Amino acid sequence: MNTFYVTTAIPYVNAAPHLGHALELVQADVLARHARLRGRPVRFLTGTDDNALKNVTAARAAGVDVRDFVDTNAARFAALREPLSLSFDDFIRTGADARHAAGVDRLWRECAAGGDFYRRTYQGLYCPGCEQFWAAAELTGGLCPEHRVAPEPVAEENWFFRLSRYTGRILELLESGRLRIEPAARRNEVLAFVRAGLTDFSVSRPAARAGGWGIPVPGDPDQVVYVWWDALANYVTALGYGSGDPAYRRWWTGPGERAHVIGKGIVRFHAVYWPALLLSAGLPLPTSILVHDHLSADGAKLSKSAGNAVDPLALTTRYGTDAVRWWLLRDPARVGDTDFTVERLIRRADGDLANGLGNLVNRTLALAWKHRGGRVSPPTGRLAGLPRGAGDSPGDQPVLAGALGAVCDRLPGRIDRALHDFDFRAATDALVAVVDEGNRFIETERPWEPAAAGRLDAVLGALVAACRLVATELSPFLPDGAARLRERLLAGDRVARPEPVFPRISGPAGAPGTPAGR
Ligand SMILES: [Zn+2]
Repeated sequence: MNTFYVTTAIPYVNAAPHLGHALELVQADVLARHARLRGRPVRFLTGTDDNALKNVTAARAAGVDVRDFVDTNAARFAALREPLSLSFDDFIRTGADARHAAGVDRLWRECAAGGDFYRRTYQGLYCPGCEQFWAAAELTGGLCPEHRVAPEPVAEENWFFRLSRYTGRILELLESGRLRIEPAARRNEVLAFVRAGLTDFSVSRPAARAGGWGIPVPGDPDQVVYVWWDALANYVTALGYGSGDPAYRRWWTGPGERAHVIGKGIVRFHAVYWPALLLSAGLPLPTSILVHDHLSADGAKLSKSAGNAVDPLALTTRYGTDAVRWWLLRDPARVGDTDFTVERLIRRADGDLANGLGNLVNRTLALAWKHRGGRVSPPTGRLAGLPRGAGDSPGDQPVLAGALGAVCDRLPGRIDRALHDFDFRAATDALVAVVDEGNRFIETERPWEPAAAGRLDAVLGALVAACRLVATELSPFLPDGAARLRERLLAGDRVARPEPVFPRISGPAGAPGTPAGR
């Protein structure tokens, strides 16, 4: 069965979500919605890492109870569902869900049974921001490369995991592509790291240092499970791994796809540590790790401490869900960081959605109402806007001739390939290509001229078919905008009266650009 299980990373909740979290949620949402559109059984999981020590530090700094603090911030992540139009099926909270603690306990015991734990006194350089130890050689000028602060020397007795045992098997997984990492640049970084040889790592912390926060090590209550071990386990604990839930078997042990969408800062945890833990416990592995780069805002790193956090809730309130989702899917580079500005968001929404797609649909509907009273005779089959696979018969042929027909015919396949490659720019390019060709088609055919009267029905039929196809294929990307398009394009031989589906954010076309965000 062609199941698709897709997850985001679970962010720690030391503050409210920023635009980088929205990026990852929207990317995973598109993959989930697209797989559903193609008829695949899908489960989409997100959640929060409640057990991170950073949460404890931030709560203490704010002078509030840790549990209240974590609950409040976790709720802000879950509340992104409506404003971002997310379709996740489940939301796990590692500190509040009993299924999580039960699953961590079981996973730990399985690894222990495999002989992969031992106790050792450890001295190292620890970055509280990363919640990980750094080797001196990995630091940049003595500072954590992520946080630009000097890590603290820490000496303590911990449980260690025999990661070194798994170097050969992890390498084989990555080289064979059985564990696929996109893009290739990130895969190559992981390969170089593994080829250098893996070293055992610490997987517990003294409970005293964690202030009792976290999940106790089974059989050793003086230690709590290292938060990364705990957090990674969420991908199976949420499915009920700890309680023998059939969902675990369906989504994790079957022949389907298991994809983790993550940021580039945590690739090692997902492509090395996590597979090693699963190998140790004798569990199946993820099939794909899909890695996005980072966003900055007005040239500065996105973080609360830097004071420039872009609030996704405020952006959707001001500019709408479609505009925010479209920017997140259209602009960020597949490899390399991308800078967000309100001007760029407006330029994309006005250029691609209002002037491009909105204009194409409006012109088509206006022609249909002016000359045919809202009646059209659309072609049947694939280009009538049916999802591929839902209405095709073997005899279906492309029914639109010329460049518009060709670009429509290629659209579903181009989107499938782009999303398989975790390339949202290529996927949105494919949609924009049909819109551009549709607007060009109108300019070439000039259907409003008397000389075109004889081919008006064919031209209108082709345009409506192309618009309906775009509305369908757009739906994973902009579910709200696509629903409004379908309300105008209807089905069969009727279309609704034109009405702006994507109003310009910066005002009417031709007016001096006054961005609403200024
Ligand atoms: Zn750090």
